[in-house]
Amino acid sequence: MEFLKSAPRTDLHVSVSQVKGYLACAHRYYLRHVLGTEAEHRSANLVLGSAVHEALASYYNSIRNGRVPVAEGVLQAFSDAFDEEAEKEPAILLDDGQTAGDLKDEGIRLVEAFLRDVKPPDRVFSVESAFGMDVTNPVTGEILEEQLVGYLDAVVEDAGKLVVLEHKTAARAWSADQLEHDLQVSLYAAVTGADLVRLQVLTKTRVARLLVHDLTRTEKAQVEAVSVVCQVLKAIRAGAFWHSRGWQCKECEFRARCAG
Ligand code: SF4
Repeated sequence: MEFLKSAPRTDLHVSVSQVKGYLACAHRYYLRHVLGTEAEHRSANLVLGSAVHEALASYYNSIRNGRVPVAEGVLQAFSDAFDEEAEKEPAILLDDGQTAGDLKDEGIRLVEAFLRDVKPPDRVFSVESAFGMDVTNPVTGEILEEQLVGYLDAVVEDAGKLVVLEHKTAARAWSADQLEHDLQVSLYAAVTGADLVRLQVLTKTRVARLLVHDLTRTEKAQVEAVSVVCQVLKAIRAGAFWHSRGWQCKECEFRARCAG
């Protein structure tokens, strides 16, 4: 598991989430990462997702440390992380009539669904581990200056397989196309060489559910994903920062500035 020993460089790098963010809206990437523009608000989904991730990290850390996870402890980890997030600036962008308490209650429902539905793995190797990998352009063979960096939610062993766990909170179940083509999953498969990337999606449906998808990627899909990273870096260097108006504008932390 070389990827667990890789030390991400602090100078030139691009993260998996930055690549995804650039593809969602290049102009937002420019405001956020090139200009360092101050955000107008924080997205409720991101705040909720971050606190849920903390709770799930505490669950897997218990197993890693040889303890049986206790539901009260996992829920407390969520509550502490959420309260900490809620106090930060800028304010959370809530729906009309929604309060921070409503958002917290939704998070508790998600964590309870996780605790109800999850099957613990046989062994946990790491939780929230950073990786940093050199990227070789699959077309030119050139090693790029920038490292690809990211965090793996957990790396585990399950039924004799090496599995990378990735957690998501989502409004609804992922579509078959999303599961087949998600860039993050393809890059994690390429970086780690794990047998599976297990996507654990907590859905914010009326009855919250944990949907588990064991995903693999072909060699071709992995090469294509690395090629996308190379193309994105090339576009960033060339200063290509267009506006992508769409669903992502609703929660965008620069939407007032962008509309004006
Ligand atoms: S408001 Fe929309 S177009 Fe403007 S930066 Fe945000 S995501 Fe991009």
